Amino acid sequence: MVCPYLEYSNGTDETAFDEPRAFCTVIDEFVQPMRADICNGRYGLNHERDCELYREHVDGDDE
Ligand code: SF4
Repeated sequence: MVCPYLEYSNGTDETAFDEPRAFCTVIDEFVQPMRADICNGRYGLNHERDCELYREHVDGDDE
């Protein structure tokens, strides 16, 4: 399952990429390929279990 906080971006005017890269809206940063495997739920990985950023964000979300 793909993380709901994952987006793909070609970068900004200052950092334009040829290929869209995985972007985490929790930390507002591009993520490394190994973490992107978690974001995309590849290889049996799961963001709810394997991503501390997701868990911290959800746990700390009062809404
Ligand atoms: S880094 Fe974690 S919270 Fe961010 S998009 Fe990937 S799985 Fe989701």
